[in-house]
Amino acid sequence: MSKQEISAVSKLKEIEIKIGKAKNRIVAYDGEPISPTLICVSKNFSADDIVPLLKAGQRVFGENRVQEAQSKWPALKQQYNDVALHLIGPLQTNKVRDVIKLFDVIESVDREKLAKKLRAEMDLAGKELPCCVQVNIGQEEQKAGIAPEQTIELVKKCQNEYGLNIVGLMCIPPFDEAPGPYFAMLASLAQKANVRYLSMGMSKDYEVAIMMGATHVRIGTALFGKRDVN
Ligand SMILES: *Cc1c(COP(=O)(O)O)cnc(C)c1O
Repeated sequence: MSKQEISAVSKLKEIEIKIGKAKNRIVAYDGEPISPTLICVSKNFSADDIVPLLKAGQRVFGENRVQEAQSKWPALKQQYNDVALHLIGPLQTNKVRDVIKLFDVIESVDREKLAKKLRAEMDLAGKELPCCVQVNIGQEEQKAGIAPEQTIELVKKCQNEYGLNIVGLMCIPPFDEAPGPYFAMLASLAQKANVRYLSMGMSKDYEVAIMMGATHVRIGTALFGKRDVN
């Protein structure tokens, strides 16, 4: 293994340990014990960078761009057929068909038009992908996601009108603010919407997110190092 490969794998182990420790400090605990799932965010990194993590046993990955995912994951999934690939980026309705072919979970459902298209395309494909509703938890203009006060209504609509399997909520809190209150807000919304999963927490704040009840943390930089863009 190259130096870069060894580093990603050793960081994976470090993060798993930190997740284990954060888990013991869950403050927003309610219900069954949570064992948070690590989603390795491999955007901007190549198949060569991803393979060492697959070899080390990691199976859950996240990508935010459909085209980029199509360029590396079909081959990787052929070799590692138990991978779960999460779409964590914005989804245009004209990409829905491609996404259903390649991905296993869609975390970025944020509008009714998309829900409608997902229903139609999943019926065509004979597949049912679990989905999360993405919440614009800090109500930031430049961010994707449904407004907090419209979240419960969208979840119900996705479930009742489009029969989508909405398993949870996802958010990205404002970059330069303390994330804890935003994570707490997402947890409370999920409880009210009666959905189980909370995808929240990235490289710099995943331990806080876990303490606030995250079931999924999405980590890129802390594993792979800095990306050139985005
Ligand atoms: C890039 C990205 C991440 C990972 O961010 P890091 O800070 O590199 O860990 C997580 N979630 C989403 C939606 C992303 O786009």
